[in-house]
Amino acid sequence: MTDQGPICDFCSSLSPRWDYGCADFIYGFVLSSSGVKEYINRGGWLACEECATRIDHQDWEQLFVRALPVTQNRSAATPIYIALNLVRDAQAGFRTHRTGTKVSFG
Ligand SMILES: [Zn+2]
Repeated sequence: MTDQGPICDFCSSLSPRWDYGCADFIYGFVLSSSGVKEYINRGGWLACEECATRIDHQDWEQLFVRALPVTQNRSAATPIYIALNLVRDAQAGFRTHRTGTKVSFG
């Protein structure tokens, strides 16, 4: 983590505009030489204007595409297919566990 401030939880844009309530959920387990890492969503998701538009239109494919550059920031120990699965499963969890409509952020 860096101290860059809030980002869009979908595309990592530095200008999130909306906050979507979401319950906590587990979206993945990854086994590595250092053990099992559990991936947990905690709380709401921030979204930039572009991602919010896609959420509101239920354009899940484009939301996934917008997140792909984020996988370039994975650690060297994480294969690309695992990073892609984690993004897909996290976004699927967001759809399932979302708690309401967006509220303005920032
Ligand atoms: Zn975004």
